Parts: sequence; C-alpha cells; structure tokens
Amino acid sequence: MTEESPALYVVATPLGNLGDLSTRAADVLRAVPWVAAEDTRHSAPLLRHLGASARLLPAHQHNEEAAAQQVIDRLAHGESVALISDAGTPAISDPGARLVGRVREAGYKVVPLPGACAAVAALSASGITAPHWLFHGFLPTRAKQREEVLRALATAPYALVFYEAPHRILETVAALQTTLGKDRRIVIARELTKLFETIHACTLGEAMAWLEADANQQRGEFVLIVDAPVAAEDDGAEADRILTLLLDEGLPVKQAAKLAHAITGVSKNMLYERALALRAGA
Ligand code: SAM
Repeated sequence: MTEESPALYVVATPLGNLGDLSTRAADVLRAVPWVAAEDTRHSAPLLRHLGASARLLPAHQHNEEAAAQQVIDRLAHGESVALISDAGTPAISDPGARLVGRVREAGYKVVPLPGACAAVAALSASGITAPHWLFHGFLPTRAKQREEVLRALATAPYALVFYEAPHRILETVAALQTTLGKDRRIVIARELTKLFETIHACTLGEAMAWLEADANQQRGEFVLIVDAPVAAEDDGAEADRILTLLLDEGLPVKQAAKLAHAITGVSKNMLYERALALRAGA
C-alpha cells in the first residue's frame, strides 16, 4: 500500500463529507509516520477519526520552503510523509506545489492520491458541455486587477472556473457580469458535498438577482463556472464541419488541421486534436 522506499504522498481530503476520503487515502494516512498539514489544528480531528498516529508538521503558504526542508529531512531518514490541505486536493489553490517541487528536486518519489477537488466536483455536476475549461481559482481582490484579469479572459474559448469566498461573492458575480456580458451562462456551485449544497444555473444577467433574493445563497464556499462564449461553440461546430469535409477527401490529419486553421482561425493544435478525434470516430 505504501512504497518500500520513502515517498511523499499528496493526499486529497474531503471537501465536507468524510465519506469522500478514499480507502487508499485512509490507509496511507494511517501508515505514514508524518503528515504535513496546511493547518495542523484543522487536520488533527481527521487523523484522530481515522485512528492515525502520525505526527503533524505545519506546511502552509508562509513556511512552505522551511516545511519542504523538514519533509526532505524526514524522507532522508527513510520516513514517508503525507501532504494534506484543509480540504480537497493540495496544491490546487492551496499550498503544496512549492513543497512538492522541492521534494522532487531532491530526488524523492512523489505519489498523488486523487480525490475531492471543488472545481472538478462542480464541473461534473454543472451540465456545461464546453469541451475545454480553464481553471482560474481565486480572482484578485482589488477591483481594477480583477477587471483586467477578466477582460483578458473574456474571449477565451473556454468555460472559466473560479473559486470564491462568501464575503466576496456579490462583488465577484457583479464583475463577471460587467466584463463577460449578461448573456453568458453561469453555474453557481455552493457548499458542495455539505448539508446546504446548491447548484444553480442561470445567465450572468440573472445571477445577482438570484443571489440577492436569498441571503442564504451568499453563504458558504463557492465554485463559479462561466460557460464558454457562444462563439467558441459555434467555432467548434464550424471547425468540425470543415475538418470532416477535409478528412473525407482523404487529407492527412495534419494537413486537414492546417487548412481548417487557415479557414477558421481556430488554434492549429486544437484543430489537430479535434481531427484526430473525428478520425477515431468521436
Ligand atoms: N484545494 C481545494 C480543492 O481541491 O478544491 C481548494 C482550496 S481553496 C483554499 C478553497 C476554495 O475552494 C473555497 O473558497 C471555494 O471557492 C472552493 N471550495 C472548497 N470547498 C468547497 C465546497 N464544499 N463547495 C464549493 N466550493 C468549495
């Protein structure tokens, strides 16, 4: 279950429902002598619940370099370490990436234990069919910077995934509406896996009124998914039509993608991937 040589296990923990901890994650947390945790006080009850006796090392955004050294020291002593964050997958809008990078540079094995991630949970239940999505996580808190980021993302042909906290939900949704337009669809996913889980879809033009109509809908933790611009879907359908014509004429995938790019202006890489899928019958 754990490696013979010492390893750093990057372990996803539940967002709210303890049942979402995988059996493998529980086994690893019970087996390792050390757990590096974003907030040791927060994680101690989880370890107690599992009957795990690992010692805790703090590993948060303000001590990540020092924590990485401590983890490397433990690995050098032949002891495995598990890395966890307060909820969900470490290093996803959470500390961990720098620590993992240092451990890898030091030549030790890093083993991911996949599990809960708010962005993926929200996407899976959103019904959004855009074939590509872009995870942005938290937006800047200052209005001017937030607007700059959103303007840069406005025409990207992807569904956009944001994280947000309750005290900023109204201003963020207002900024999304101003910069991305009233017509784009949004899915507001709140308190996933918890008692008051809510997943609501509407247009950006309707979102503020929906949130303001019930203060309870402004509470808790949020994933916001803004659907891809309609043009991206149109481009996709048009690109598929052109690629199909070219492939049916017997053109190789690369050449079909090149010509379709010249005709539609859609990214060559995207067209190449799409042509491969079309040829495979997807
Ligand atoms: N590493 C985590 C993951 O894998 O999703 C994310 C950590 S980030 C510091 C915390 C943010 O994730 C919250 O502010 C919220 O945007 C989102 N989040 C976490 N739990 C959530 C939940 N149960 N429902 C909706 N969003 C959640």
